[in-house]
Amino acid sequence: MPQHSPDPTPPAAGAHVPLLRNYVGGQWIETETRFDDINPVDGSVVAQVCEAGQAVVDHAVAAAKTAMAGAWGRTTAEARAQALRRIADGIERRFDAFVAAEIADTGKDAAHARTIDIPRAIANFRAFADQVATAHGDCFESTTPDGLGALNYTINKPLGVVGIISPWNLPLLLLTWKVAPALACGNAVIAKPSEETPYSATLLAEVIDEIGLPPGTFNLVHGFGPNSAGGFLSTHDGVDAITFTGASATGTAIMRAAAQTVKPISFELGGKNASLIFADADFEEAVTGTLRSAFSNCGQVCLCTERVYVERPIFEKFVQALRQRTEQIRIGSPYEQGVTMGPLISAEHRAKVLSYFDLAVAEGARVVTGGNVPTFGDERDRGYFVAPTIWTGLSDNARCMQEEIFGPVCHITPFDTEEDAVKAANGTRYGLATALWTSNLKRAHRLAPRMETGIVWVNTWFLRDLRTPFGGVKLSGVGREGGRHSLAFYSEPTNICIKL
Ligand code: NAD
Repeated sequence: MPQHSPDPTPPAAGAHVPLLRNYVGGQWIETETRFDDINPVDGSVVAQVCEAGQAVVDHAVAAAKTAMAGAWGRTTAEARAQALRRIADGIERRFDAFVAAEIADTGKDAAHARTIDIPRAIANFRAFADQVATAHGDCFESTTPDGLGALNYTINKPLGVVGIISPWNLPLLLLTWKVAPALACGNAVIAKPSEETPYSATLLAEVIDEIGLPPGTFNLVHGFGPNSAGGFLSTHDGVDAITFTGASATGTAIMRAAAQTVKPISFELGGKNASLIFADADFEEAVTGTLRSAFSNCGQVCLCTERVYVERPIFEKFVQALRQRTEQIRIGSPYEQGVTMGPLISAEHRAKVLSYFDLAVAEGARVVTGGNVPTFGDERDRGYFVAPTIWTGLSDNARCMQEEIFGPVCHITPFDTEEDAVKAANGTRYGLATALWTSNLKRAHRLAPRMETGIVWVNTWFLRDLRTPFGGVKLSGVGREGGRHSLAFYSEPTNICIKL
């Protein structure tokens, strides 16, 4: 069994670069085509990754089907719940290795990986173990013309082979958010993590290998999108359902591919989220909450706030308070003490974010703070850092106010009335999350249902109970996952009607 656990400190120059392999049918599969896993802090190579081509994906589908036809397809919900708990324990046992892998791949600040990414991955397995162990079906007694009646009951069967395609921003958290319920419902899984962040997914395959799920129950294929593992998976006839987290444009491509075989899909896509801050809000809480919601994970969370609307009487005070707090953010390597913001994920993504920095100025934005690339005078200058940035002065129809940027940047706009605020918040093609900041309970209840988003937070942000529905409307997604909503997606109900 390979042990590729990275050390929690940065790899020394010239250190051995591990090879991350595909995991198919309980075997580690090497391929000749390889790509580099890059550390965005300094552009160094973290690992070499074996890309899965069509043959490896075909192999994974065949292995998954074999698992479904064999022992895994006959497990009880309780046995699957126990397997999930053992996976959670396995991640916990190698907690530091998972944290190090996540940091090496993303450059994210260590506290984020330690307190959010890896604990949430563990929680995903435990939460869906509990969900499936306590799930119940429908049962109805029906009347019949002869008066004897009939009994209807519903059983939930697995969908079969589920393809899971995930992004790089919260790599293990988002992958396991789908792996856990898919396995809980008795499916076999083929997971395709982002090409930018293959490391923690490989460690997950190692954990699953250690606990000994039947071969083919969990398969891992590495690679890119079109003409690579992602494309081959989403177009494969043998894959029964696709669940995807990523950009809205990719969702469109996958939806088109999945339509060929009418596969069920579940999509968690992009966002252009708004916060509405009313003058009656707890000011300090609203500033701290907005700082987090705009800049957590270097702004690379689908739920991050990129549009902040502040009631006019407190607008100037709010802009200055957020600017001050933003300028205190310490940017740098996750291995340095006190750093709370790392780099963006890649050179390509930084080029995209910087193009929005230029566009904002061209569109008439005032740069309150940031808008530049910080320099360090050492190897971090080879990394993909940008300064956390605040703009004011853009109109709601500016491209920077309509398109997802996915970096550490927000725009602040004043508003005068509740109606104006609601209209502005709902004025994009996205619909993932809104945060309302107010101490007026009636206002919170009045406005929350009017938000055209799948999630509304009041006086908080990113607070998640895994039993609640998660997902977006409009360009932000299709379907809901979380709690029983996940069980509904990952299983196929069959009604059995017995004439009495
Ligand atoms: P992406 O869409 O570029 O890639 C996501 C995954 O899809 C990767 O594994 C990639 O290899 C794969 N892929 C790309 N093209 C494909 C294709 N044609 N067929 C099959 N697979 C394909 O997204 P990203 O850049 O990795 O992630 C950032 C995006 O994800 C942002 O838009 C963000 O808002 C979104 N996101 C949404 C949520 C949510 O829950 N709504 C959570 C996190 C991220």
